[in-house]
Amino acid sequence: MQRRAFLTLAGITGIAAAAGLWYRRPNTGQTSLRSEAASTTGSTNASSTSQATTATSNSTSTSSTTAPSTTASSTTASSTTSSSAEPAAALVVSVLCREAWGAKPAGPGMVEHPIDRITLHHSAGPSNLARNAPGQIRSYQRLHQTSNGWPDIAYHFLIDAAGNIYEGRDPLYRGDTGTNYDPTGHFLVCFDGDYGAAEPSEAQLAAAVDLFAWACQIYDVNPETLGGHRDFAATECPGDALYTVIANGSMAEAISARMAEGELQFTDICGDAAETTIARIEAGA
Ligand SMILES: [Zn+2]
Repeated sequence: MQRRAFLTLAGITGIAAAAGLWYRRPNTGQTSLRSEAASTTGSTNASSTSQATTATSNSTSTSSTTAPSTTASSTTASSTTSSSAEPAAALVVSVLCREAWGAKPAGPGMVEHPIDRITLHHSAGPSNLARNAPGQIRSYQRLHQTSNGWPDIAYHFLIDAAGNIYEGRDPLYRGDTGTNYDPTGHFLVCFDGDYGAAEPSEAQLAAAVDLFAWACQIYDVNPETLGGHRDFAATECPGDALYTVIANGSMAEAISARMAEGELQFTDICGDAAETTIARIEAGA
């Protein structure tokens, strides 16, 4: 099973460019987690055909989710390993799209790069509370664009303490750093908050594992490349408490295990569904 999964990864290497194009495409529809979950749980036996159908017939709900996953699932027998042991919906990575958290558009000067490793950061931000995360993420983007002069927020994705994932800079483009290393090739994920002493939550770690597993699958990256910012530059980032899961190898191991379970499906949450989610996060619910 594992071997099959990795053979499949080799098979989708060629669609990395297509995945980038897919990723770049603006979100026109709202991709609801609900419909994605429903379509995957309701179709465990015929996943490849039903997903293809969803992609073509239900343009309002899945316009941006299915390009890489459909291609991948047509080459994998994804249902062979996951249908009974693991609910299909568990393989969905739900991400709050940029519009949802109020991102400003990216400015000029973005540089394309091929992703060849995965790297974890923390924001060392003012609060570790999930309810403050949308506002803090807006403030990071403002800081990065106006004070630092970068085209966009430095990170590709951010994860709050409750495990909500926020879309940052398009991973097709190299991130930015105020420290002395070259972020070319790095898939940059940032935990919002300060994890020098505070432990990351289970939900946050699980979200990171899913997101990294998805990235390793579509960009054909080895999970063993996982590093913390401090592995590349003189910085405390991502904080001692968070760095532990990198140093002891447990996160890379969890990412590999997740990848072996099947193809992770990336789902953008936008529009009304996103507003509802952000309101719930900000209410501390
Ligand atoms: Zn960092």
